[in-house]
Amino acid sequence: MTTPTRLLIHGANGRMGQALLRLCAEQNGPCAIAGAVSRGKVGQRVIAGVPQFAASELNGAPVFDVAIDFSLPEGFDAILALCVERGVALVSGTTSLSEAQRAALQAASERIPVLWAANFSLGVAVLSELVERAAAALPGWDCDIVEAHHAQKKDAPSGTALALGVSAEQGGAQPRYASLRAGDIVGEHTVQFTTLGERIELIHRAGNRDIFARGALHAASRLRGQSPGLYQLRDLI
Ligand code: NAD
Repeated sequence: MTTPTRLLIHGANGRMGQALLRLCAEQNGPCAIAGAVSRGKVGQRVIAGVPQFAASELNGAPVFDVAIDFSLPEGFDAILALCVERGVALVSGTTSLSEAQRAALQAASERIPVLWAANFSLGVAVLSELVERAAAALPGWDCDIVEAHHAQKKDAPSGTALALGVSAEQGGAQPRYASLRAGDIVGEHTVQFTTLGERIELIHRAGNRDIFARGALHAASRLRGQSPGLYQLRDLI
């Protein structure tokens, strides 16, 4: 029997962090939480058996196999540095990383296995392929990517919208972006191709955050023990 993958959850008290902790507990087997890291002061040292750490205490985190990071760009450098120092894998879904952070991720991939994805859902992985095919088949059509998220989301356009835009560009389109921030929308992406008299819409709606958390947990268990490198989600699902 394989031993559970020991995970460090970075961004643990956020929306994604909470979904990861809950799902890992429900799965009862393939993963075990070694520690949970959040910004700010830690109220309780242990919650439901999981040791809690403030971001300032990151270097004192217990032994783990893979870190899963859904935080904010300002927290990203520290978790990447810790994974490199410990020689363990990093799965990150944090969006809006800077050019320098992307370069650091690339450099780290020479020493540890890393996977960054703008979206951890299987549906969006398929949508991305459909967008590239549609763009290639519809030269000269307008391409617009409209995304909607909850009112607290900070970055716009979303990381997923930008990743879908790259797929559209690979198919030869020149996408434009529009963003809506409202209520508690988990995430909706519409890629619209329009010409005179006709229009195609490809839509993905996320009903809850579990789809992303499941993808990240699955990727983490597959990334454990791999050789250093920059992995893509499609390599692992
Ligand atoms: P959130 O605001 O609910 O949570 C953010 C978390 O980051 C909190 O736990 C906070 O404590 C932590 N944090 C902030 N600054 C930190 C720092 N300096 N050091 C350590 N921790 C820090 O956000 P969320 O909705 O959970 O989303 C988190 C990130 O994941 C965002 O970048 C979001 O865009 C992204 N996201 C990605 C996917 C995907 O599939 N790739 C899906 C959903 C969200």
